[in-house]
This record gives sequence, structure tokens and C-alpha cells, in this order.
Amino acid sequence: MNSDIKYRILIAWCTFVLIIFQQNVRSEKITFQKENYTPDYSFYHNVTSIVSHMTKIVNKYGKYINLKDEFRSKAGHSQLVIRISNFTSEKSGRDKVQILFAFGEHAREFFPVESMFYFLKNLTRGLDELHQGSLSGAYSAWVVNNFDIYIIGMTNPDGRYYLEESGNYCWRGTGSGIDLNRNFDWNFAGPGSSKDSHDEEFRGPRPFSEPETGVFIKLAAKISFDAFLSFHSGIRQIYLPFADTKSKQQNRLPENIDHMLKLARRMSHSSPSRPFQFGLAHRLIDYSADGTSFDYMAGVASVPFSLAVEMWGHENHTGSSCFDEFNPRSEHLQEEVALVHPLYVEMLSYLLTWKTRKSAARNRASSTLIRVRKDNSLNSEHQQDVLYASQTSREISRSASFESQIIYVIFALVVTGCVILGVRHTCQLMRKKRIVSLKSLSLTFSLCKHL
Ligand SMILES: [Zn+2]
Repeated sequence: MNSDIKYRILIAWCTFVLIIFQQNVRSEKITFQKENYTPDYSFYHNVTSIVSHMTKIVNKYGKYINLKDEFRSKAGHSQLVIRISNFTSEKSGRDKVQILFAFGEHAREFFPVESMFYFLKNLTRGLDELHQGSLSGAYSAWVVNNFDIYIIGMTNPDGRYYLEESGNYCWRGTGSGIDLNRNFDWNFAGPGSSKDSHDEEFRGPRPFSEPETGVFIKLAAKISFDAFLSFHSGIRQIYLPFADTKSKQQNRLPENIDHMLKLARRMSHSSPSRPFQFGLAHRLIDYSADGTSFDYMAGVASVPFSLAVEMWGHENHTGSSCFDEFNPRSEHLQEEVALVHPLYVEMLSYLLTWKTRKSAARNRASSTLIRVRKDNSLNSEHQQDVLYASQTSREISRSASFESQIIYVIFALVVTGCVILGVRHTCQLMRKKRIVSLKSLSLTFSLCKHL
């Protein structure tokens, strides 16, 4: 083989390596793959049983739970928006604690939806026993008499339908692949999202381009919510706003941070297993997320408490499968939903105390405004919480960036080798074949976004 042919082979090989590298750099796109573990639908709800179960609840407990069926996805599926309250009670909506819960924003995160059903199971069991003087009856009476809770039961039904039809348990977006948690009008189109329609963080063409995000604007315009909680899974963390790129650069803090930290701390320690990590999103996570629902609710809709709750995470997940990275195994599901249920109870209890004190102390209209704090100063009581979040962030950052650093080192070595060898017109490297398989490395190069 003459040196010219060897040189051409070398160039072709280098081009091939560069293409493979580029594909791996973009591997934050989670593509279809055969799952090591799939859910048992006799434990988990599938999309059909989600709809039928919710319908059954609404039909049976119409006195306390109403369905708002006008909110629908792009494909026309109901987002299962319900309202829980004692509609005949003397307290009007504004006197109650008004809360919005959002479940099922990301198709592959089954666990939050199951947790919602567990919450509803506890509530409805008590409603059955309301007049029998039982403990659960007292809890349910307390909930419906003091709270006005809106629940978006299935924020992203099209994505969930697609996931189940295709068997692609890595699917995060809507039916057309848009990440709803990048589609909100808060730092929209920042680098913590993607304009690439094949990327799992594809934000869509413009803010609120998707009908699925419309429900948030409509409800927030109509109701002055005290709290908004967006539920996810993939890790065990509770985030305070903000998660966007600008806030990360500016170390921006929400106005109501002192109360939000108190709430997050209470929720974190309510878990009977171990505390959740909690703190400001831009300090707790090593990536930024632009256009999220909880940033929008805090920064634009001025909701005093706006949190993203990551309810469950695999302790030591390895490999590339998705279902068991974001959700517990079927046989552990009931145990896990029971373990996170105290978060709801603690949250409701804290918010009721907060609202009662607030109503008694000052005019509601002047005190519910939440604005971005300019001085970035923190109540000293919470310096420790933020410090804790910072430390955690560094630890996460260290482990998450390690694998990508290896990829970059190998890439740099390959490129350097190619340049040197190219200049010398030699193909000695070809014979030695000292190429590390980037494909195998890619299996561990998974920085899955959960938020
Ligand atoms: Zn999520």
C-alpha cells in the first residue's frame, strides 16, 4: 500500500472518529433503546387506566372533586385537571390556601403520577369516613375545608401515549418531542434548552407554543395561587427558583426565599427514609434549565411558593436503561409512594400556618407580591441551607463532569494524533489500532435531565 492510499485511509478514519464524537457529545438526546427493565402494568397505571381511575374518582366524589375537562393536549387528550375543595364550605376560594400541583410533565417519569394517586387515595378514603369520626376522615375534612387544590394530573398526555405505544421509556417530550419544561416564558431560548427538534430539551418555536402549557397561564391568570409545585423524578431533590442560565450567572434569588427554604426544609425532613437535598436550583444542579414552569410561576406569575420536587431517584443507577432510572421497580412502587406521602402533609400544614399568619398580620394584596431580590442578601437563618446546596452542587458537578472529561481527553488525543500523523503521511496508528471505543464510552455518558 503506497503512502498516498494510507494517507487517504487515515483522513477517512479521522473523519469517522470526529462524526462518532459529535454524535456522542450530542448524546444528551436520549434515543430509543431496548430497556433492561419495563414496568408491570398491574402495579403501575398505564395511560388508559390513569384516565379511567381519575374519572372514577371524580364521579364518586363530585361533592369535593371536580374535573375541568376543557384543558386538553395538542392531540386532544384531557390533561385531567381537577379541583379539590369543599365547595359548600363557608370559606371562599381566596380564604383558603390555593395550590397548583402539576404531574406528568415528562413522559418517562411515571412515579409522580403514581404518587398523586396515592395522595388521592388517602384523601378519598377519608372522605368515605368523613362522618364516622375516623382519623383519616379528620385529615380529609381538614384538607377540603382549608385548601383549594388544583391538580394537573397528566400535563403531557400525548408524550405518555407515545411512550407506551412505542415502548421508548426514555421519551421525555410531548407527542412532537417538545420539552414542556423548556416552553415557558422565563428566559426562553436560553442555552439551558435546545432549538434542535431532535434534542430531548427541545423548547419549541416560541414560549407557550404548546397547548399543554396553556393550562398554567389560564389557571394562574384566574387564581391567585399561594403555591405551585411541579413534581418530577430521577433524583431526590427539592428545588427553589431559579434554574435558568441568567439566574445562575447572576446568583439571582427569589423574593420569598426565606419562607421557601423553610418549607423545603420541612418537606425534606418529613421523609421517613432520609432527608431530601434541597436548595436553589441554580446552585444545586450543574446544568441550567431555561423556560421552566416553576421559574415562570415564581418570576412572572408571582406565586409566593414555587418549587420543583424531584420525588424519587435510583441510588446507584448504571447502564443506559431509562425506566428504572426514573422510577422504582414495580414491586417497590407502593412502598415508595407511601414514603413520599408525608411531603404533601407537611407542605399543606406549613402553607396553612403561613397563610393564617399572613392574613392576620397584614394586607394580603401587598404581601403576596414576589419579586426578584436585588441585593442578593440572605436571611442569616438560611445561610446554612444555601451553603449546603452549594456543597451538594459541587459534589454533583464533580461526578457528572468526570465522564465528559474523559471523553474530551480522548477526543483531544485522537485529534492530536490525527494532526501529527496527517502531517507525516503515515498510518502506523492504523496498524496498531489503539482506538478506544467511543461507542462503549457513550453508554456511560448519560447526563439525563430530570428537571
Ligand atoms: Zn422531569
